[in-house]
Amino acid sequence: MISDGSFRLDGKLALVTGASRGIGYSLSKELAARGAHVIAVARTVGGLEELDDEIRGAGGTATLVPLDLTDMPAIDRLGGSIHERWGKLDILVANAGILGTISPIGHVEAKVFDKLMAINVSSVWRLIRTTDPLLKFSDAGRAILLSSGVAHTARAFWGPYAASKAAVEVMARTWAEESRQTRLRINSVNPGATRTAMRAQAMPGEDPETLPTPAEVAAKIALLCDPALDATGRLYDVRSDKLLSYNDPS
Ligand code: NDP
Repeated sequence: MISDGSFRLDGKLALVTGASRGIGYSLSKELAARGAHVIAVARTVGGLEELDDEIRGAGGTATLVPLDLTDMPAIDRLGGSIHERWGKLDILVANAGILGTISPIGHVEAKVFDKLMAINVSSVWRLIRTTDPLLKFSDAGRAILLSSGVAHTARAFWGPYAASKAAVEVMARTWAEESRQTRLRINSVNPGATRTAMRAQAMPGEDPETLPTPAEVAAKIALLCDPALDATGRLYDVRSDKLLSYNDPS
């Protein structure tokens, strides 16, 4: 148990990417229900509006930002806007991601590889770069970067996606090392197989009913936003509910 879950996030500002569906959608609702104002980022306006309706219906608030994360200057502008309007950021959830194609690594098309790296890696770095000073203005800044179990298992045919998630985790770890003396806490998350569109794309033959819902998974990930959390540079494994440490390869 990483937190008893009793904390509130009133007055906190949370930026969540990939908020139009899946894990990001549920996590946005979860953070808003705890009192945070959520800046919800994705391309699909319909999904963002549905989220906004749900958040408002439950008494929360959100700002919708329709944005394609391959547009790197737009990410920089988003950071500038947050600075101008709020002067700080309390929570960053870098959740948006794509799977690319499941195929032998040598068969992956260059444009698929480049797009995957742009969304899964470059946009995350760009978010880190623009939000780092804002998160350090917070009294309890929290950054959560969505990874995957395949970052460590080198599963055949998942090469580009796995490499992108390994890159995310190393960025999270280095950022955490650089920020250890600050109040900012940075952790990666392996959500485990979750009932979302991405999982259905990866495993079309699987019965989704056998998988945890995004809401169940998001409720656990949200615990990393506890202002009392001290852990940083770790990997939270949702399925086992454990904060894992890193070891050198052996
Ligand atoms: P979904 O496919 O359900 O949702 C992905 C989200 O990312 C959507 O909101 C989508 O919004 C957004 N997104 C994708 N491309 C872009 C883009 N170019 N610009 C802006 N937003 C974009 O995925 P999940 O909820 O399943 O996954 C969430 C995270 O969890 C991902 O990082 C994934 O790798 C990770 N993960 C998921 C697992 C699972 O089993 N589901 C297992 C392990 C890790 P839109 O299309 O509207 O832009």
